[in-house]
Amino acid sequence: MERLQKVIAYAGVASRRKAEELILEGKVKVNGKIVKELGVKVSPSDKVEVNGIPLEQEEKRYFLLYKPRGVISAVTDDKGRKVVTDFFPHIGERIYPIGRLDYDTSGLLILSNDGEFTNLLAHPRFGVQKTYIAKVEGIPLKESLKKLERGIRLEDGKTAPARVKLKSLDKRKGNAIVEIVIHEGRNRQVRRMMEAIGHPVIKLKREQYGTLNLHGLNAGEFRELTPHEVKQLR
Ligand code: URA
Repeated sequence: MERLQKVIAYAGVASRRKAEELILEGKVKVNGKIVKELGVKVSPSDKVEVNGIPLEQEEKRYFLLYKPRGVISAVTDDKGRKVVTDFFPHIGERIYPIGRLDYDTSGLLILSNDGEFTNLLAHPRFGVQKTYIAKVEGIPLKESLKKLERGIRLEDGKTAPARVKLKSLDKRKGNAIVEIVIHEGRNRQVRRMMEAIGHPVIKLKREQYGTLNLHGLNAGEFRELTPHEVKQLR
């Protein structure tokens, strides 16, 4: 069951605010009856009409994109930069990214038109494990990485314990590759964590999301998730 205004918004007919206005104005019918209160919940089997036009009950789609660097994790950008949905020109459903990767971060991003699924995955308590590979300035000491494993104080609070591994180092260039597994999803979290121990990120890639990985894909390519993969994430 989903709130009526949300169902209208996810169908791409109007923003959530506009959907609320349409409801209050008596322009929305559920199973043939006008609904004027906000907060009414509907299920996929309910027939919703806006201005007399049935909402297409879109098929739910789930995609895994290998997001390249230099792309915004959104469906539009007011500065005209490339957005993640530009990689899906032939998908009719209105998909949107679940969570986000920074403009300069590459890696695994899920897109869907399933609002319930999105809310579930985006909820902090749900805590999908995400694995990042970071190229960082300098060569972190074991003790510094331990601090990240225990949790480190950032301006928005202490991070939850993370799994951190030094994968390789380049003494000549003075940088290192670090693998870091977190289940939170705060803004620029990995970059801020590495900065907090004095090793700013040069390059960042998300390699895994739960059990999903990027195998078989190049940057800019996507594939549809299997029903089994969707079920595993739920
Ligand atoms: N952490 C970051 O710093 N950036 C991302 O894009 C994802 C996680």
